[in-house]
Amino acid sequence: MRQSVNNTSYSGDTTLTRYAGFIALAGMITGAALWASLKPKVAPIEAKPAAARSINTVERLKDTVKRLRPLQTPLGKPQPGDWLAEHKEDGQTFEQYLVRRPSPAPGELTTLYIQPIGDFGKTQQVIVATTARCLGLFYSRPVKMLPSIGLEAIPQDAQRINDDTRETQILTTYILDKVLKPKRPSDALAVLALSAEDLWPGKGWNYVFGQASLSERVGVWSIKRFGNPDESPEAFQLCEARTLGTALHETGHMLGISHCTAWQCGMNGSNSLEESDRGWLHFCAECQPKVWWYCNVEPQKHLAGMVEFAKTQKLDESAQYWQRALEALK
Ligand SMILES: [Zn+2]
Ligand SMILES: [Zn+2]
Repeated sequence: MRQSVNNTSYSGDTTLTRYAGFIALAGMITGAALWASLKPKVAPIEAKPAAARSINTVERLKDTVKRLRPLQTPLGKPQPGDWLAEHKEDGQTFEQYLVRRPSPAPGELTTLYIQPIGDFGKTQQVIVATTARCLGLFYSRPVKMLPSIGLEAIPQDAQRINDDTRETQILTTYILDKVLKPKRPSDALAVLALSAEDLWPGKGWNYVFGQASLSERVGVWSIKRFGNPDESPEAFQLCEARTLGTALHETGHMLGISHCTAWQCGMNGSNSLEESDRGWLHFCAECQPKVWWYCNVEPQKHLAGMVEFAKTQKLDESAQYWQRALEALK
C-alpha cells in the first residue's frame, strides 16, 4: 500500500517537511508508529539571548498588522486533501509569536548559510543563487554559500537507490546529524541545506522533501522533485518558485514561525506540490511582522527590497503584494 502523507511538526524539534511519501507495509509500519519514532522533543524557548537592540517597537509592529490586514485574503475552506483538511492547527498571531520569541535574534547570529549537497546542474545553480539572494533580502542577513558536498563525500550507508525512481537518495538524518549540526557556524541564524538529490528520512519511507532540526536551526531540503528547470521557460519558473517558497517557508519555521491558518500566506502548510503551487511567496499581515521583529528589520526598507527583487524575477503577484504593503505602511 502506498500512501502520500504529510508529517510536518514545525513546533517541535524536528520537522519532516511539508509533504512526504512513505511506504506503509500493512501491519508492520504505521504512520503513527513511524511518527512516534520521529516525534520531536519540545523545542526550547531561547534562553536569555543576548538580545540585539530592537529597531522596531512591539507597538509599531502591532500597528503594521492593523494596516496590512485589509490587504489579506482569507485562506478559505480547505479542499479535500489539503493540509488544513487533514491537520488541525491553531495558527499563530504576531502576538502569540512574541511569546515564543520575546526578543529579536541574538546579535551574534549575523548570517544565513546555504549548504549545497549533491550535483547541481548549471540551471539549478542559477536557481540556488537566486534563492540565496531572496533569503538574504527577506531575512535581512548576508547569505554565505558553504562549500558544496558532492555525492562521493557521502558514505554508502547514507545513500540508496529508490526502488520506484531508480534515482539516488540521501539520508536526511545523516545530513542533519553528521554534517549540519557539528559544522554549524557559530554566527548562523540558520543553515539551509539544498540537495540536488532526492532524500529519505529512514526506514519505511519512500521519500521526503526535507527535514529540519528547529532547535538547532539546521535543515535539508531537496529540489529534485521540483521539476527539471532546463525543460522549458515555464519549468524553470516553476522550479524557481518552488525553491524560493520552500526556502522562505522553512527558514521561517527555523525562526519559530508556525503555519499560518488564517490568510493566504507563504507560511501556509501544504500537503502536496499541487497545493503549494497554489501558494504565496509573501507572508501575511500576522506573519510578516514576526520576521521584522525577530530579524530586526525596518518594515518599509524590507518591503522596498522585496518589491525590487520580485520585479527583477518577474514574480508579478508578489511584486504587487509587496508594493501594496509598502504603500499601506506609508
Ligand atoms: Zn511548514
Ligand atoms: Zn501568515
